Amino acid sequence: MLECELLNVCGFFIKYMDSNNLACRSFINKYCRGDMMDRCERKKYRKEHGEAPPDNMMPSGKMLNI
Ligand code: SF4
Repeated sequence: MLECELLNVCGFFIKYMDSNNLACRSFINKYCRGDMMDRCERKKYRKEHGEAPPDNMMPSGKMLNI
């Protein structure tokens, strides 16, 4: 299965992988386990800042309030 290489260490994925929230499920399907993984803003943040972004930052770069 197609999977992001950061799946095991990504705070967003770990926190929301079992969520029923539709937005989370959609992001996980499209980014974490989909062909948009290379466009993930979390990945970009990690590269630019040398550390992981907050867990509630979505792959789109926006913050989730749940
Ligand atoms: S949110 Fe981004 S960095 Fe995290 S597992 Fe998904 S695609 Fe990878």
